Amino acid sequence: MRLDGIHHISCITGDAVGNLDFYTRVLGLRLVAKSVNQDDPYVYHLFYADQIGSPGSDLTFFEYPGALPGRAGAGMVHRIVFRVATVEALEFWEARLASEGLSANLEGESLRFADPEGLGLELVVSTVADAPLTAEHPEIPPEHAIQGFEGVRAYASRMDGTKRVLEGVMGAESVGEGRWLLSGPSRQGWIEFESAPSDPSRPGAGTVHHVAWSTEPVEHDAWVERLAEGGVSSTPVIDRHYFRSIYFREPSGVLYELATKGPGFTVDGPVEELGHHLILPPMYEGRRAEISARLTPLPDMAR
Ligand code: ZN
Repeated sequence: MRLDGIHHISCITGDAVGNLDFYTRVLGLRLVAKSVNQDDPYVYHLFYADQIGSPGSDLTFFEYPGALPGRAGAGMVHRIVFRVATVEALEFWEARLASEGLSANLEGESLRFADPEGLGLELVVSTVADAPLTAEHPEIPPEHAIQGFEGVRAYASRMDGTKRVLEGVMGAESVGEGRWLLSGPSRQGWIEFESAPSDPSRPGAGTVHHVAWSTEPVEHDAWVERLAEGGVSSTPVIDRHYFRSIYFREPSGVLYELATKGPGFTVDGPVEELGHHLILPPMYEGRRAEISARLTPLPDMAR
């Protein structure tokens, strides 16, 4: 059983309008689903990804309107790393961000910047053979488009335990100082831990909530047993409509999810229609008018 790279990454925003604008209009990702938190239907759950909502490209946000800015500390991911094809693509993005009044730091084959709420982002030149997962956008040349996740950077508080779970339970391979690679039949992704800053972590707007790793659907149930055998307590399998999920917290405190590669976003309808309509979990469908009225009105950025 191998984890097939990063499946999706979920974060928190306090401003769905600004968040939608930044990730779709500026970064050129596609809104592939506009839904609500299964556990709290008054909280938006927005999904940005490649053109068809592939695992490996899916960045999601829960909106808590007006949420205070968070601060990444021990046990939290502090930067999300995406792939692009070339150094020229990094230069394109540096200029595009500058035209939006956003500063970025280009160093070698890496461009670091932050989203409008301070969430750390980074683009790196891809060195792997994984299929590029890109979205179409009228202002972004296809050769410069973001290609999906490369990895995440996190702060450790218990490096020994973090290493034990990654290597002994999740099948990760140590690939350098604090970095572990999770690679499967079709994709690979890494997590890199460094020592945490002294300021305590504070969840909030602009922080990462959890990182999900991809599993083969037929192997998914067996991961619950493998985690238990490795001394890791997890949730049971939970149906998340687009995929099935298992959650557990690794020893430093980062919340991981193991998510099946299918069925995916086309359970909602054809690829062309993804992101155009508010999708509600079936149990909330009867409350559509009341729930819609409570959600932040969003411009139609679907394409
Ligand atoms: Zn998730």
